[in-house]
Amino acid sequence: MSDCLFCGIVAGEVPAERVLESSRTIAFRDISPQAPTHVLVIPKDHYADIAAIAEAGDGLLDEIAGQAHRVAIADGIDQSGYRVVFNTGPQAGQTVPHAHAHVLGGRPLAWPPG
Ligand code: AMP
Ligand code: ZN
Repeated sequence: MSDCLFCGIVAGEVPAERVLESSRTIAFRDISPQAPTHVLVIPKDHYADIAAIAEAGDGLLDEIAGQAHRVAIADGIDQSGYRVVFNTGPQAGQTVPHAHAHVLGGRPLAWPPG
């Protein structure tokens, strides 16, 4: 998708602080971090949201979940704990229509979320 911000990051046209990469995903630091670790894991191909990824059903969701855990290991928060969030749709606060997992940690995270 030519006008998609995160497709632009995948293509290297938009700068991002990349953390990890796998065959079908990249992970980069959120530009507005809400916790000491705030990394986004995205598919390189464009999917609108987690539902579209699940619909494709080809193991991509597993790869994203695995990469989220590897981000946590890389940032040293796999033992202290972390949260993986897919905001989906307007009421959940999804602002970028390219599916992304937020990986958040490095501080206590309140529950329920706001
Ligand atoms: P969401 O609101 O769930 O759609 O999440 C979108 C996230 O993308 C927000 O946390 C933004 O801070 C983040 N974001 C927006 N633009 C960029 C960018 N250029 N590089 C990194 N993160 C970004
Ligand atoms: Zn996209």
